Formats: sequence, C-alpha cells, structure tokens
Amino acid sequence: AAALTLVPTPIGNLEDITLRAIRTLREVDLVLCEDTRTSGRLLQHLELKKPLLAYHLHNEHKQVPHLLERLAKGERMALVSDAGTPGISDPGFLLVRECLARGLAVECLPGPTALVPALLKSGFGAERFAFEGFLPAKKGRQTRLQELARETRTLIFYESPHRIVKTLTQLAEVFGPERPASVSRELTKLFEETLTAPLGELAALLGARPAIKGEIVLVVEGAKQERSERSKYNSRDDRDDDLPDD
Ligand code: SAM
Repeated sequence: AAALTLVPTPIGNLEDITLRAIRTLREVDLVLCEDTRTSGRLLQHLELKKPLLAYHLHNEHKQVPHLLERLAKGERMALVSDAGTPGISDPGFLLVRECLARGLAVECLPGPTALVPALLKSGFGAERFAFEGFLPAKKGRQTRLQELARETRTLIFYESPHRIVKTLTQLAEVFGPERPASVSRELTKLFEETLTAPLGELAALLGARPAIKGEIVLVVEGAKQERSERSKYNSRDDRDDDLPDD
C-alpha cells in the first residue's frame, strides 16, 4: 500500500466520492487536509473518525519534513483538499515531489475535479485543452492573456465570482468579443448553471447581474488556426496553399 494517497472529494454533490476513496480514508492513519472543519464534516458524513492534520498553502513548507519522517516510518496518509482533486489548483505538489524523491510510494485516486465537467458542458473541442488554473491577479495578467490569445487548444480557467466580469471583459479585449466562451457556476450543486456565448455577450450578461455568487470555471474556445500556421503543420504539399479553403 502507498505511503501517501491523494484522495479527490466532492466539488458539491456529496454523492461524488468513489468507493475506493472512502476505503482509503477508512484505512489511513492520518488525513491531511486544507481545513480541518471542512474535511471533518465530510468524514462525519461518511461516518469515519480519523485524526486530521492541517496541510495548506501557508504551512506546507513547514510541514513537509516532519510528514516525510512519519511516512518513512510506515504511517499511511491521505491528502484531501476542501473540494475536488488535491494538487489541482490546491496544495499537493510539494509533498508528492518530496515523497517520490525519497522513494515513498504515492497513489493518486481518480475522482471529481471541476475542470472536466466544465470543459465537456461547454461543447468546445475536448481532444486537446490547456488548463490554466487561476490567472495572475494583477502582475503578469496582461502578459499571460496576450500569450494565450493565439492558443488553439480549448482554454480552461478557474475564477472567483467577484472577478469573473472583469476577466471576461479583459478576455474580450485581448481575444476579441466574438470568441465563444462558457461559464459554469456551482457545478454539481443545487443552483448549477452553464452559460455559453461569445465573450462580449457573456461579459454584458453577467455584468448586468446585481451579484454573482458561487464557484466558477471559465472555458474559452481556442483560436482558429491561421492559414500560414495551418500549412506549416500540414503534411500535404505546399501547393495546397494556393487552393481555396475546404
Ligand atoms: N482542487 C479543485 C479541483 O480539483 O477542481 C480546485 C480547487 S481551487 C482552490 C477552487 C476553484 O475550483 C474555484 O474557484 C472554482 O474555480 C473551481 N471550482 C471548484 N468547485 C467548483 C464547482 N462546484 N463549480 C464550479 N467551479 C468549481
């Protein structure tokens, strides 16, 4: 059995937890979590009693050495976040990296994460996509948006409800207001909604609401491949460039 297991937990609907996730939480010695109250409630719902230890962005560097010591002695731990998959826009990376460096086995259970249902509900291409997580709040934001403007893969962002209108407005400026986009709010919860429209329209639509609440994933369709770029990737003869588009 693995020393450390990353255990995804529901992003809203409490039914979204796997049998294996529950078994793992039952079997481990310790549950590392972002917020002991949030995860305490989940364990209570699952009728499990386990020691919990806070492991979050603000203490992970301090916690890692002593956790590694305990893991090396044979203790088994689960890492959970407040919601979804640990390590996806949540703490996890550091502990996983250090475990692997010491030859401690790490297991990652598949399970809920907000980006997948948002991507699929957008109806945009899902064969290739780029998960961008949270955009930089201030510094580097414009640069990142500029860099992404010509990305042809579907783009996925996490965003907070109080910044979504600003982000849609900025994206409309940089990507153009006609670029199709999709906002998924409160996935798997009672007031779940997905709005799909061009960036400019979405900005106006949500900007007209008195307040936006809940958690949000923003999905933006990739840029259309430019003609010159397309011929670069095309294995067909260059003469095709002289033919009209099919
Ligand atoms: N680890 C999580 C995951 O696997 O999706 C993400 C954690 S991140 C700190 C929180 C962000 O995830 C929110 O700001 C929102 O963008 C997104 N999110 C989480 N739950 C969501 C839900 N039920 N509906 C829409 N977005 C959600």
